[in-house]
Amino acid sequence: MKKLFFFFFLSICILNAIGQNPERQIKTSSEILLELKKLAKPTRVLYVAAHPDDENTRVISWLENHRHIETAYFSFTRGDGGQNLIGSEKGPLLGVLRTQELLEARKIDGATQFFSHAIDFGYSKSSDETLEIWNKDQVLGDLVYAIRYFKPDLIITRFPPNAQAGHGHHAASAILAAEAFDLAPLASAYPNQLGRVSTWQPFRLVWNSYSWRRSAEELEEDVKINVGEAVPLLGFSTGEIASRARSMHKCQGFGRNWNRGEITEYFKYTKGANFTSDILEGINTSWGRFDQGEKVQQSFNQLFKNYNYEHPWKNIDNMFAVLREIEKMPENPFKEDATSKIKGLIIASAMVHFDATSSEKSTSINDSLNIDLELVAYQPINVELKKITLFNGNELKINQNIGANKTWEKSIKAHVNGSTKISTPYWLEEDASFGSYSFSNLKELEIAVNSSELWASASILINNKPLEIKTSIFNKVIKPDFGEIYEPIPVLAPITFEIKNPLLISINGQSRALSFTLSNNTPNEISRELDFILPKGWTGELEQSILTLKPFEKVESTIRITPTENAENGYLRFFWKNLQDPALQLQQVKYPHILTQTIQDGAKIRLSAVKTKLSNKVIGYIPGAGDDIPEILQNLGYKVEVLEQSNWSKSKLSSYHTIVTGIRAYNTNDWLAEKAEDLWAYAKNGGNLLVQYNTLNFLSNLKAPIAPTDLQLGRNRVTREDAEITILEPKHPALNVPNKIGEKDFENWVQERGLYFAESWSKDFTPLFEMNDPGEEPHQGSLLIGNFGKGHITYAGISFFRQLPAGVPGAYRLFVNLIEM
Ligand SMILES: [Zn+2]
Repeated sequence: MKKLFFFFFLSICILNAIGQNPERQIKTSSEILLELKKLAKPTRVLYVAAHPDDENTRVISWLENHRHIETAYFSFTRGDGGQNLIGSEKGPLLGVLRTQELLEARKIDGATQFFSHAIDFGYSKSSDETLEIWNKDQVLGDLVYAIRYFKPDLIITRFPPNAQAGHGHHAASAILAAEAFDLAPLASAYPNQLGRVSTWQPFRLVWNSYSWRRSAEELEEDVKINVGEAVPLLGFSTGEIASRARSMHKCQGFGRNWNRGEITEYFKYTKGANFTSDILEGINTSWGRFDQGEKVQQSFNQLFKNYNYEHPWKNIDNMFAVLREIEKMPENPFKEDATSKIKGLIIASAMVHFDATSSEKSTSINDSLNIDLELVAYQPINVELKKITLFNGNELKINQNIGANKTWEKSIKAHVNGSTKISTPYWLEEDASFGSYSFSNLKELEIAVNSSELWASASILINNKPLEIKTSIFNKVIKPDFGEIYEPIPVLAPITFEIKNPLLISINGQSRALSFTLSNNTPNEISRELDFILPKGWTGELEQSILTLKPFEKVESTIRITPTENAENGYLRFFWKNLQDPALQLQQVKYPHILTQTIQDGAKIRLSAVKTKLSNKVIGYIPGAGDDIPEILQNLGYKVEVLEQSNWSKSKLSSYHTIVTGIRAYNTNDWLAEKAEDLWAYAKNGGNLLVQYNTLNFLSNLKAPIAPTDLQLGRNRVTREDAEITILEPKHPALNVPNKIGEKDFENWVQERGLYFAESWSKDFTPLFEMNDPGEEPHQGSLLIGNFGKGHITYAGISFFRQLPAGVPGAYRLFVNLIEM
């Protein structure tokens, strides 16, 4: 059962603001007790790895919910380079989706979330390469900052700092953790941070090791800890909580069987104080570690001894007593955070509900927003509403006693003034480099996502003591088949673009029209002049440059683009003439398991000029794990028919000049096992079968052999997109007809050359290329072409599924040759 608790945060609560944990301010009395137990232990743990889904939720859930130790997950990247099993988001938009999935996981296991500037740029073989692309100095500083801000006593890495980690990002995360462990306490390291945070010495660094890829002797030395424990306050076990959290990584297909009972985890000492049986060994987890902390601990003990589950509001006096003791302490790293959290738990115990909602789905600068405010004080205690403060600075003086179980309501109209920022993830505001997002404000390292620009805050008195409840203003929709649904309200730019196709390919100099939609998001008529800049060698003509849009009007417009002989690939960027405002395109990431995300970044289209001969042949396409190849082939002018189990006809295969299989088609389609021989017969009778990469590892096997003779796939890949390529068979038709393939065709590739190359093959196959990453043996299995009867079977480990959507001209020319064979 997923609890629909929404994003409520307390203005003064630093750590709630970190994680953005959408949280209803009212909790069950046992949830409040669990939070208090964590507050009674001023100790924190930071878990460090590279990607969303690397984190071991079993360990995090056990620390948070059984050991009552506040834990955060520091993921260097947002997982931008991963796959997406539930939709079409790739790159930065996938990063936005995976960020939200992490936040949903953290709502379940209770931990906090941090990120760095690093981008998940795809598979990396070595930590050296990763650290160069990530800009080591910057990401190391990011982790040092997180340690100084969060102040963990224990740091846990998910990976070892060497090749045993597999992925270069993984090893890099452990290398950086060990260096940051040493640097965080030094005032000489990253001194620019010390205005906002102070130095911090963590007590211990351990590796949460694993049982695979390691010898029995290595495992023997590890400290083993059972992390599967009951959490009666929540009615779950730590393993169940962990599995529910892990199952939020839906776009990675991580829906999991719930883990129940005992769970053994392995830990290995890395740095700081050693340990023998418990990773928290020797860490003082009591308030007594700070000046005047003994009294705080005593006040907590008093509160726990008399805790009233049935009437949590009766605990409020004891909670105020804890608050007083904490406020009396001299400054210490946990004081401010604990103060604001206890205030939040007092509001939760008093069961004061405060809501600010609107029926409007969006707003924009200089527009207004109709807001419904609601405050309910459920319990028989004295709650006085003093005032409401809004995001635009307006204050409503109320000064009213809210009777027990009475509702206070008010509807107001709020102006969205020019100082309000338009909504977009902070890390996407500026253009990123290949390896890092660009943002310079250190404060942004403290927050996983930006908080809403639209908020309301209620100043209340409980037992005559002032408290603050701050909430984002949500769009509230009532659906008959669901009930209340809360969604964020984005602040939109006055006019936004919607561009359906972010890539425009022009073949052989053809001119192409591209349509886009402009929306006026305001209640006012707007007139503007639109203009654009083009990469070198292109010309463009707007259908309409002077635009007048009526209130909330949407208009469609087009731009016609033509490349000249020497056109360079790059971006067409729109801008508004004589205006400071950038021209922004609106994109949304919307799924039922996350809060809808709005991205507004520069309106642009990637332009690519490709010179290739073409025909209008008919192609059959067998879908695999999902790629954009069919659409791309259609764009090139081919006729594409999708072949599935349901429409399979052996006799019809001969009507296709070429049959292309989607990426991992032999891994994902069980039914291909029965059809493999049909495909071989098709090739023997003159057909052209082009198989894109498939994987062969412990997770997936081939459902059918690809060719009638030996063809073994391996795990070799070339991850440097600029790796040198040697042409082995320069006279081969696939490198000459219709396009003569040369060195120039391998320029400006993206992310990698190829993956899952063939490892061995029969003499029927001819390898066309030899390539390798720096320092590795050359591989010949990237592209193999075999003659079978009158036709061909080709295996392509070349990453066409990445190059073609990115508009890489040489990849197009080579792909056309393989199709036209
Ligand atoms: Zn990973």
